[in-house]
This record gives sequence, structure tokens and C-alpha cells, in this order.
Amino acid sequence: GDAVEMVDVRKTYQIGEPVHALDGVTLSIPRGSYTAIMGPSGSGKSTLMNLVGCLDTPTSGTVSIDGQEISGLSDRERTTLRGTTVGFVFQTFNLMPRLNALENVALPQLFRGVSREKRHERARDLLGRVGLGDRIDHQPNELSGGQRQRVALARALVNDPAIILADEPTGNLDSETEADVLDLFEEFHDAGTTMIVVTHERHVAERAERIIHLLDGEIEWIESLDESNSSS
Ligand code: ADP
Ligand code: ADP
Repeated sequence: GDAVEMVDVRKTYQIGEPVHALDGVTLSIPRGSYTAIMGPSGSGKSTLMNLVGCLDTPTSGTVSIDGQEISGLSDRERTTLRGTTVGFVFQTFNLMPRLNALENVALPQLFRGVSREKRHERARDLLGRVGLGDRIDHQPNELSGGQRQRVALARALVNDPAIILADEPTGNLDSETEADVLDLFEEFHDAGTTMIVVTHERHVAERAERIIHLLDGEIEWIESLDESNSSS
């Protein structure tokens, strides 16, 4: 099966005039692939990500994540899917303000019954890989925007999700850190993780194997990139 399968997905917001945020989207994202999603503001990118991230359900059509149709799941099952199968890197970081970087990154493993020592070891490793090895004791308000984004990224990776969803993951980063984050994505892709990245930046999208271009809630075109981006 595919990591993500959408069949004729519509999402309509009814506030006065109905807005068709997604208007009949059909797509499959194979397991282990690396996909970028581009499109102008209002084209439906966030709506699509929220569906794949199990934060929302479609108005009509079906969305399956890792073979499970999300409309058929309870809220609790969707939450579990989001915490384990899907790692979501939000633009707004949702870090716990009272916890330091290490504790924030370690937290998602708590629900899987991993020992404290192992949780902290894993969190320390990931924070080192995103360039924050010397900031593990800092709370979010003691970190810059870019550093917080990297903490959120490390947290999304900590449970080794099968699918990583990243919404503008390099938006606040300087070019050196951006390169580190993109290299990290490539490592995860090489290890078999399905990568889905929403970005406005062409050079970020070009790290993927293909780019899905959205326009007015529809797929405008799917662009295949050079085979050198493919790990298979
Ligand atoms: P993008 O992420 O590409 O900017 P969105 O998915 O956020 O696009 O939005 C697609 C369309 O749906 C836009 O016209 C937006 O105004 C509308 N929309 C998104 N979320 C909501 C919402 N919660 N309520 C009403 N309209 C919404
Ligand atoms: P950036 O240029 O990346 O936005 P800042 O200028 O916000 O970074 O911060 C520079 C450095 O100072 C960072 O390494 C950050 O960890 C540290 N820092 C920022 N705010 C605080 C704070 N309130 N307490 C402790 N360290 C801080």
C-alpha cells in the first residue's frame, strides 16, 4: 500500500460563501518517497497537510494513511496515528514552555514506555544532529526562532515516524542550518522514511523526488525531478 492515498478529496469551509479549500484531489504518495508540495497562498497546502497529519477529516472523498482510512477512526485513534506513524513539524512549534529542549524532545517517547535514560539519550542525539547539542538545557523562551524550529524538528523525529510532514521547515533558518536540516531529511529518506515537505522555496522543493503543484484546491501538475534524488 501507499503511505498516503487520497481519492476525490474535497474540503469545504462554509463561512458565508462556501470555500472549496480542496476540490477533488486524488493522489498517492508511495512509502519511502520524498515529495514536495508547492502552490500560492490559499491554494490548499495547509488543508492538505492537516488531512495527512490526521488533524482534520475531509468533507467528502477518502484519505488513507499507511492503509488506514482516517474518517473511520475515532479521535483517539487519529491522535495515536499522529504521534507514531506521522511526525508533524508545525510552523508554530507547540513546544512546552516549562520544559527544556531535551525534555521537549524526549516527551513523545514517554507514551511508548521508553525508559528515561533511553529517552534522554535519543533526545540528546537528535538535538546534536540539528545543531543544538549545546542548548539542551534551554527552555523555548531562551532560544531563537530558528533554534525552536530545530527543537520541534527533533521532537517530530524522535519516535521514528514512517511519515514526516514538514510545513515550511526551513522558513526561519539561516542558510547553514537550512542545509543541515535538509541533509537530515535526506538521511531519513535514505533510511526509508516517507518525506512530505510544504515549501515556497524552489531550492528546498528540488531536494524531493517530485513536486505536487496545487492551485485553487486542485492538483495543477506533478513534476518529476531528476532520478539522482531517488534513493532506490
Ligand atoms: P495554503 O496553505 O495553500 O495557503 P489553505 O489550505 O490554508 O491554503 O487555504 C485554502 C483555502 O481555504 C483558502 O481560501 C482559505 O482561506 C480557506 N480556509 C482554510 N482554512 C479555513 C478555515 N478554517 N475556515 C475557513 N476557510 C478556510
Ligand atoms: P537568532 O539570530 O538565531 O534569532 P537570537 O539573537 O535570538 O538568535 O539569540 C542569539 C543567542 O542567544 C542564541 O544562541 C540563543 O540561544 C541565545 N538566547 C536568546 N534569547 C535568550 C534568553 N532569553 N536567554 C538565554 N539565551 C538566549
